[in-house]
Amino acid sequence: MNRESMIKNLEAQPEKVWDILIIGGGATGLGAGVDAASRGYDTLLLEQADFAKGTSSRSTKLVHGGVRYLAQGDIALVLEALHERGLMRQNAPHLVKDQVFIIPNYVWWDGPFYTIGMKVYDMMAGKLGLGPSEHISKEETIKYIPNLSEKGLSGGVIYYDGQFDDARLAVNLAQTMVENKGSAINYFEVVDLLKSDEGMVCGVKAKDHESGKTHTIKAKVVINATGVFVDNILKMNDKNAKKTIKPSQGIHIILDKSFLQGESAIMIPKTSDGRVLFAVPWHGKVVVGTTDTQVDYDSLEPRALEEEIEFILSTAAQYLKKDPTRKDVLSIFAGLRPLAAPEDDSEETKEISRGHKLIVSESCMITMTGGKWTTYRKMAEDIIDKAAMIAGLDERRCVTKNMPIHGYVANVDHSNHQYIYGSDLVGIQKLVSNQPELADVLHPNLPFTKAEVVWAVRSPLCVYWWVG
Ligand SMILES: Cc1cc2nc3c(=O)[nH]c(=O)nc-3n(C[C@H](O)[C@H](O)[C@H](O)COP(=O)(O)OP(=O)(O)OC[C@H]3O[C@@H](n4cnc5c(N)ncnc54)[C@H](O)[C@@H]3O)c2cc1C
Repeated sequence: MNRESMIKNLEAQPEKVWDILIIGGGATGLGAGVDAASRGYDTLLLEQADFAKGTSSRSTKLVHGGVRYLAQGDIALVLEALHERGLMRQNAPHLVKDQVFIIPNYVWWDGPFYTIGMKVYDMMAGKLGLGPSEHISKEETIKYIPNLSEKGLSGGVIYYDGQFDDARLAVNLAQTMVENKGSAINYFEVVDLLKSDEGMVCGVKAKDHESGKTHTIKAKVVINATGVFVDNILKMNDKNAKKTIKPSQGIHIILDKSFLQGESAIMIPKTSDGRVLFAVPWHGKVVVGTTDTQVDYDSLEPRALEEEIEFILSTAAQYLKKDPTRKDVLSIFAGLRPLAAPEDDSEETKEISRGHKLIVSESCMITMTGGKWTTYRKMAEDIIDKAAMIAGLDERRCVTKNMPIHGYVANVDHSNHQYIYGSDLVGIQKLVSNQPELADVLHPNLPFTKAEVVWAVRSPLCVYWWVG
């Protein structure tokens, strides 16, 4: 089913009351959509732009327990995230892969300190661990990261975490939702809420940005999963609503692979501002980030600040043989963390827990704040448990723990860049067997073939769901 037929269905039944209506097509909303549809609830999700247009395409792309949260003592979050890391890798192996990380040690006690810390991390992952952490010599550290600055280097700690493709996972979640008889429509913006005579939220008014038409859609329960935009929806519910979000901006820069040779990533556990910085191989380039800058705006296109770019460049330069400069930056992306505002507003954003928080308004609308991509499945389970109760739906258990996500394949060959298509690769190969010239690459410097473009354009899902 494509966007057009989902809208036709909507228009054909204007009086229909959906079991669950979700606003927002990022990790939180799409996860909830998959959970609800796979329990058999009649579910509609509306996204104002492309799926994952917001924060969910601007992450560091790590499926991780969060070494920093361990240092902060947020044990419950680390345990939950490590468990979810294992499930994400099991259910979407075409988009989640193991990644070797090296913590370089420039002070001798960093060796034992981080080795013990990472052993605790391994223990917490239990059976879902990806490999044993260990202390390694200076020579081995350089073997893993050949262009690491050697001045003062005493050794390193190797550990394993996951890396994933955030935007593609979002699209695959939308496809999984639709395969489970849910409807997910993009370019559909919620512009107002419907209220019953008793003041309960019972649906939305939404504008189709393609046709310009506004639709009135009824639902037994409405879920606000709009990331940094949740306060806008809460204001539609109650114009005096208090702010629930403290947005924090994080940026990444992309550098050429020559800055980080080999397949391993670097993790700097403590930057000058007390954060963590990663340099991770990413589709033949290197992604370096991130920052944690408290901001007071929401935006679908946040802009990196010059000082954030400078901070990343100067921190990376301390650890790399070759100093990256402004002209080496190939691209930049910025995202806003929808952090749950703490009671004590003085707290810095880097100190705020990345755990999630469910808010149920007096009008029975459910809002989700905080969270991480890694824990999207568990967040979704919590949201839908609550939504089913509020809407008075039949009690049905969550089935996503062992549910393959669209594109799932058992054996993934990561050496071919097309592995990210998973089971959809068959469609691309079919195109090539019918028209062999489609196997040609688009440009000698790029691995992408003409067949990938033709497949993307022809696929009824990807016409609307393509995220570049
Ligand atoms: C810099 C950075 C790095 C990160 N790195 C990691 C990481 O490595 N690993 C990890 O696990 N997590 C990471 N995270 C956290 C993770 O990316 C977020 O927690 C997650 O993406 C939030 O998803 P969301 O669905 O809540 O918000 P969003 O992705 O922002 O989705 C909300 C959606 O709602 C839509 N919307 C808003 N208003 C309306 C409306 N009126 N009608 C319809 N739709 C609407 C928006 O267009 C948007 O698409 C990172 C975050 C940042 C900022």
